[in-house]
Amino acid sequence: MNIRHLARTNVLALEPYQSARRLGGKGDIWLNANEYPLPPSYALRGDKLNRYPSCQPPGVINGYAAYAGVRPEQVLVCRGADEGIELVIRTFCEPGTDAILFCPPTYGMYSVSAETFGITCRTVRTRQNWQLNLPEIRAQLDGVKLIYICSPNNPTGNIIDPDAIRELLEMIHGRALLVVDEAYIDFYLQASLTGWLAEYSHLVILRTLSKAFALAGLRCGFVLANEEVVQLLLKVITPYPLALPVADIAEQALSVDGLRQTRARVAETNANRESLVRALAACLCVREVYPSASNYLLVWFDPAYQVFKTLCNRGIILRDQSNQPGLADCLRITIGTQEECQDVVAVLKALNPFSSLSKES
Ligand code: PMP
Repeated sequence: MNIRHLARTNVLALEPYQSARRLGGKGDIWLNANEYPLPPSYALRGDKLNRYPSCQPPGVINGYAAYAGVRPEQVLVCRGADEGIELVIRTFCEPGTDAILFCPPTYGMYSVSAETFGITCRTVRTRQNWQLNLPEIRAQLDGVKLIYICSPNNPTGNIIDPDAIRELLEMIHGRALLVVDEAYIDFYLQASLTGWLAEYSHLVILRTLSKAFALAGLRCGFVLANEEVVQLLLKVITPYPLALPVADIAEQALSVDGLRQTRARVAETNANRESLVRALAACLCVREVYPSASNYLLVWFDPAYQVFKTLCNRGIILRDQSNQPGLADCLRITIGTQEECQDVVAVLKALNPFSSLSKES
């Protein structure tokens, strides 16, 4: 029996998110998913797997609230920031009526989550410097319930100008919520907007343990917002979003020692990134390395397909961004270990632009 005709029309039409795992590839140096290159070592504690976990484990909520400098009532924990993106849509958007707005080039899950729930996507391209085009956003606000802004932006790496975000918050006051995706903010914590929650009841911030906490496999993220928003999200979230082992490890990651390890990881990643920036700038196949406040670099190559393929043949997997608006010939490189960064540079140093390698080879 053909089951396809029973599926929802928008699901049939949906282009699923091309995650790094879905795209796959063969290699031993994985620089395509903005993960931390080495696993942290946490041991599972507790043996009560016969019991359901708490929906919002207090140890995790209190730990993250202390880390982020907010009150526990302002924290919701979920299965990664991806679940946070979806929860806000399911809580605030009316299918068939409301729209979300985001500013490409940016993270791909805002559109996938919206489309899955029958919510219209409106896009306003960023300016050439990847900052917000406020007049155009203002012109597109009709019917928009949520605006997603990613800062540092994936894949461009830039922080979105806080003055523009403030102007946007004032502009949409009373009609929409602003969701700021801070998945990578731990690499540049001074730019976090958590301090603004007290001022703006319509500000929502997404966070994750997948990046600086080196726990992408754990699937643990957070929504930070005012209590009224958190209470609404709690009506929609599944009864037991966090498996007991997840809560156990998240709590350890947020302990004094866990946070010390994260701070060390951030310092090391940022130092590796800056060395990689300098080394890449000296490679002939590199046209521009864009400044980044996170654990990846966006690089404009000459040409990107050659670099991607050559590295791929050496088992080094990057993320091709050339199909994103305005990012022709751009690849995203996750900051790996120092050795992994050096391996990338060693291959690229040997590459000249316009070399004999053809597109087909
Ligand atoms: N937001 C952005 C900007 C991301 O890059 C990612 C990770 N790909 C996510 C959210 C989702 O993170 P998580 O692993 O917490 O679901």
